[in-house]
Amino acid sequence: MVRGAVQGVGFRPFVYRLARELGLQGWVKNSSQGVFIEVEGPHELLDTFLLRVQRDRPPISFIQSLESSFADTAGYAGFEIRESTHGEKTALVMPDVATCSDCMREIFDPQDRRYRYPFTNCTNCGPRFTIIESLPYDRPATTMKAFTMCAECAREYRDPADRRFHAQPNACPACGPQLTLLAAKGSELGSRDPALKKAAEAIAWGQIVAVKGLGGFHLMVDARNDDAVQLLRRRKHREEKPLALMFPSLDTLRDVCEIDALEERLLLSPESPIVLLSRKEEAQTAVASSVAPGNPYLGVMLPYTPLHHLLMRELGFPVVATSGNISDEPICIDNHEALERLRPIADLLLVHDRPILRHADDSIARVVAGRQLLLRRARGFAPLPIQLEQELPPVLALGAHQKNTVAISVGRQVFCSQHIGDLETEQAFITFKRTIAGLGDLYDFNPQRVACDMHPDYMSTRHAHTLTPEPFEVQHHHAHALACLAENGIAPPALGVCWDGSGYGPDGTVWGGEFLRLTQNGFERFAHLRTFRLPGGERAVREPRRCALALLFELRGESVLNSSHLSPLAALGDEDSRVLVRMMLRGVNSPLTSSAGRLFDAVASLTGLRQVASYEGQAAMELEYEATRAECDESYPFALREGSPRVLDWAPMIEALLEDVGRAVSTALIARRFHNTLAEMIVAVAAEAGEDRVALSGGCFQNRLLTELTVRKLEERGLRPYWHQRIPPNDGCIALGQAVAAGLAKDRRENDQR
Ligand code: ZN
Ligand code: ZN
Ligand code: FE
Repeated sequence: MVRGAVQGVGFRPFVYRLARELGLQGWVKNSSQGVFIEVEGPHELLDTFLLRVQRDRPPISFIQSLESSFADTAGYAGFEIRESTHGEKTALVMPDVATCSDCMREIFDPQDRRYRYPFTNCTNCGPRFTIIESLPYDRPATTMKAFTMCAECAREYRDPADRRFHAQPNACPACGPQLTLLAAKGSELGSRDPALKKAAEAIAWGQIVAVKGLGGFHLMVDARNDDAVQLLRRRKHREEKPLALMFPSLDTLRDVCEIDALEERLLLSPESPIVLLSRKEEAQTAVASSVAPGNPYLGVMLPYTPLHHLLMRELGFPVVATSGNISDEPICIDNHEALERLRPIADLLLVHDRPILRHADDSIARVVAGRQLLLRRARGFAPLPIQLEQELPPVLALGAHQKNTVAISVGRQVFCSQHIGDLETEQAFITFKRTIAGLGDLYDFNPQRVACDMHPDYMSTRHAHTLTPEPFEVQHHHAHALACLAENGIAPPALGVCWDGSGYGPDGTVWGGEFLRLTQNGFERFAHLRTFRLPGGERAVREPRRCALALLFELRGESVLNSSHLSPLAALGDEDSRVLVRMMLRGVNSPLTSSAGRLFDAVASLTGLRQVASYEGQAAMELEYEATRAECDESYPFALREGSPRVLDWAPMIEALLEDVGRAVSTALIARRFHNTLAEMIVAVAAEAGEDRVALSGGCFQNRLLTELTVRKLEERGLRPYWHQRIPPNDGCIALGQAVAAGLAKDRRENDQR
């Protein structure tokens, strides 16, 4: 799907020629929403095709969005240009678009009237979603309404031959927004270009500068300066979670990271997300170790607004560019709010007077199994819809709790909001409500149904109950599976493999290692991982050693206390181990869970890799990285026990793994065998379920190794795996799944649950 100024400029013939040249089959057609292309061929050629559509397009066409996703092969015989279709009438709100090359040229041309102007944009690039108040998209309906165009800008705006014809945010140094540099106390230290230069100097000296960008504030600091990065971590209350980086250019980035063709396309795309790249061995010192401690990957983006281009050109070195917030709160968008909330963190604030109407964090992408996988969908992607096969009634879906997003369905489209965040704080709840209202405003939306999670304590569920007496409650993992199917353009029946940290189970246990057989109007829990007790409930999320103790207790009962030589017990100490075992014996505050995420945590602890985590998922990530350092195909034994649902028993695996630990087998090798086993487990259950299509969803499938192994083994078995591409596998996908579940349901409740 290609969107932007691509119609009527020879784009379709260009696509046709390119496809023919590469020997690809399929078709291209115009629609009211943009140009649709479907091409079929070998994977490498499809990558080349994507790359060249972006790079070699006709000079006067511009691509504002190039969202690709892989689909089942259809067996086309040749390549053709198809008749245009006039489908959905829903006006499309474009996402924000990274600065185009024409605007780039202007801001670095001393002869140009927009020389060094940080708010330069044109019809092909610039802010959209973050400044649009309502439709139709017209200047008075944007946050640019306060700026009156000067005569020169107005002329460009009215001239059909000009690149800025009807460019709503059009502006120049004479009439548009301007920069101001503020001290943390709020006093003004400069404006316009001197403000930018002073901000750059401050960063070079090791200070922390909050920079107002497109969809919110970044906190920036010199990425080479370990002291400065550590100071940022302390002030932001972010201990070890990796920080994102912005590099001045692709060339400077190449020195530090490995970049393949698909990653390069993502980095330079109009969406311009953060991309997770492997670090080069020889360049370990190019960024401070505190940026991503112990992590073989770096989350990296390139400048995507003129402001960022100017700043990075000034600096010439990579900076940390992390969301302007405290720990996991939503990103800050307003100048006053930024002064309030970021004052304790930033030494200086580089602000501007173009209001941000909607927040949009940087999106995060990773290449998995040769495809793009979004881990966070926000700037550049939101609010482009997911197209469904069937029409849905208007549903408002409120998502889950962590990594919350919301969604609305309009006809055959589901509009998924940008990433909101964990609904833990007042601030997050305000942003959540504002995002719902914002989507409603844009699409003139009146919900017939409100969908939410089944978890009674989620803030989103509670909010649903304030909107309607009987919201449609969707089981968490059912929503996961439906989201994965929906974005892959398929409908049940299928087997959903939903592995994550936790989700409310209607049987009173905490689900998280689920195999759901999806039917037309519901699901059946076909199998799940063997349950174990989580001593202290949620506290176990931050303490892998508790999960490990719990597994051992499940295997050995009270006698686990005799194994004080094992690392989780050693880490807990005798006293705590005893207390926790007693809790589990009595079943006090230790819910049963089938969570795959906690199984990862437990194994990270058993291998001695991590006992206490500073953020959720840390232990699992480290286990993944460890596993990628070993090459081996062996796996551990496991058992699939008959019943309804069937129970996938990890006990034989853990026993064998403990033997490996006892024999001092390397952690990398154990981690690798563990990953192999999980993939084997999924294949075994899928084969028994007899469903040909297998949808992989849940936070565990952010794990590249697990996803790639599972996909490969499923394919070898002749099954058809589907995984996420455009929508994150984590709880960011829940709203989409809820919208589909509620939209398709005939009744007011979920049925078929066991
Ligand atoms: Zn432009
Ligand atoms: Zn102007
Ligand atoms: Fe989940």
